[in-house]
Amino acid sequence: MNTEKTYNGSCFCGSVLFTVTSEPALMAYCHCDSCRHWSGGPVSAFTLWNPETVKVTHGEDNIGSYNKTPGSTRKWCKSCGGHLFTEHPDMALTDVSAAVIPDFPFEPVLHVNYQETVLHMTDGLPKMKDLPLEAGGSGELLAE
Ligand SMILES: [Zn+2]
Ligand SMILES: [Zn+2]
Repeated sequence: MNTEKTYNGSCFCGSVLFTVTSEPALMAYCHCDSCRHWSGGPVSAFTLWNPETVKVTHGEDNIGSYNKTPGSTRKWCKSCGGHLFTEHPDMALTDVSAAVIPDFPFEPVLHVNYQETVLHMTDGLPKMKDLPLEAGGSGELLAE
């Protein structure tokens, strides 16, 4: 049985196209400083995928790459500067911003790194101080 769905993603100008297939491992919001500085927005809405399910279908040559830290390879389009995704090889996960896969039904289940927030969100979802225990964090929850 094959019920895997494929969703289209692209950079801001459309010269880089990619697809994500199946289901992400996690959908959430991140409030950390790194996400804020890299994205230019107050909060990052992200989806985490098995790297094998993220495939560049057009414009591979046009992808720039930057590592501030070894654990995060940030990728963007060299033409428009639009962000594509961030690879986390240590965790075997690729972080795709929800904004670049507009057709994908983004259903976040929690907030992470809420201790660094600059934009409180009273949506009733759990607010983790840093990261879940499984991801090496404290697993502590904060009030909204
Ligand atoms: Zn572009
Ligand atoms: Zn973050």
